[in-house]
Amino acid sequence: MRIILFSLVNIISLIIIPSSAPVSAHFYNNVSTIPPLIPSNSTWNRFNKYLGCRVGQKIKGLAKIKQYFQHFGYIDNSLSNDFTDEFDQLLFSALKTYQLNFNLNITGEFDILTLQHMVKPRCGNPDIVNGTTHMNSRKSPTDHTVAHFSFFEGQPRWPSSKSKLKYAFLPENQLEDFVKAAFRRAFDKWSKVTPLTFKETDSYRLADIRIGFFVRDHGDGNPFDGPMKILAHAFAPPTGFFHLDGEENWVVDGEYLKEGMVDLESVAVHEIGHLLGLDHSSEKEAVMFPTLEEGARKVELSRDDIEGVQMLYGSNPNYNGSSTSYTRSQENDISGYSTFGLLCPHWIIGFFLALVLSIFL
Ligand SMILES: [Zn+2]
Ligand SMILES: [Zn+2]
Repeated sequence: MRIILFSLVNIISLIIIPSSAPVSAHFYNNVSTIPPLIPSNSTWNRFNKYLGCRVGQKIKGLAKIKQYFQHFGYIDNSLSNDFTDEFDQLLFSALKTYQLNFNLNITGEFDILTLQHMVKPRCGNPDIVNGTTHMNSRKSPTDHTVAHFSFFEGQPRWPSSKSKLKYAFLPENQLEDFVKAAFRRAFDKWSKVTPLTFKETDSYRLADIRIGFFVRDHGDGNPFDGPMKILAHAFAPPTGFFHLDGEENWVVDGEYLKEGMVDLESVAVHEIGHLLGLDHSSEKEAVMFPTLEEGARKVELSRDDIEGVQMLYGSNPNYNGSSTSYTRSQENDISGYSTFGLLCPHWIIGFFLALVLSIFL
């Protein structure tokens, strides 16, 4: 039954291959070739007007802020996104949860630290799904310290029969090898600490993990937004889609990072974490933390990331750092189809469930 369900998930995932035309993204490996970049100041200036804003006030643009919070799960997704510009209880509650998740002072106001945090480039995956934040602290599985990693709802993972994962790049992107090498290095980080291996294949259609650069609306209900802000998103296992914003200035050689530039390998390491089943971590040092400082490079897995992924897959026998034991009871891989909806329109989930029910009932 699990095998059949797994196959069905793959069939459905093929149906929702993004429909819009992909683009060639901008890649730089030499700082002198980088054009003048979109300054972060312009983003900050747009947010600056909300400084000190609190319940009862009305400022043009707050409706957009509510949409931002709704996208990341801080406002119920079932509500219409036709919001008002009023600082109401809905926004107050969303703001407080956001501040709690990111260890900011819980003021329920747009203070400077909160606003500065909101303008940081980040992953497009939500922090909260179905009203449940997964960015909670928990006791570390290895000792008495606190762990911050989290899993997707239902704790989906790749089945044990899929420990040799194949990945492919969208052919239309025509990536050069120096760009592909950044992804290779990112996959290596995760294979060093788990029994999983990753190998590139030419067959995009048959690959377990499908990587592509897209611009704006690309057919999966999660449009990209141009330079900075949302950088990429990835689906929980076993869907395997990894999408990156084709309008970023991607830097492949992280030596030369500066403001307005995004380090490709850092983003790849983060999104691969999602592809393996990790959700966001509230640990600032973790690669699974949702934001990435502008011009920053973060490619080394933290202890929090390693503990999280080893809870799902166990340790690589050659890894001599701390590890956690793996039990078969954690193998609930096929529950991945419930997480399948994280980035998919609800009708697809409905269609999928109807299909399953029609076969098995
Ligand atoms: Zn993320
Ligand atoms: Zn996408």
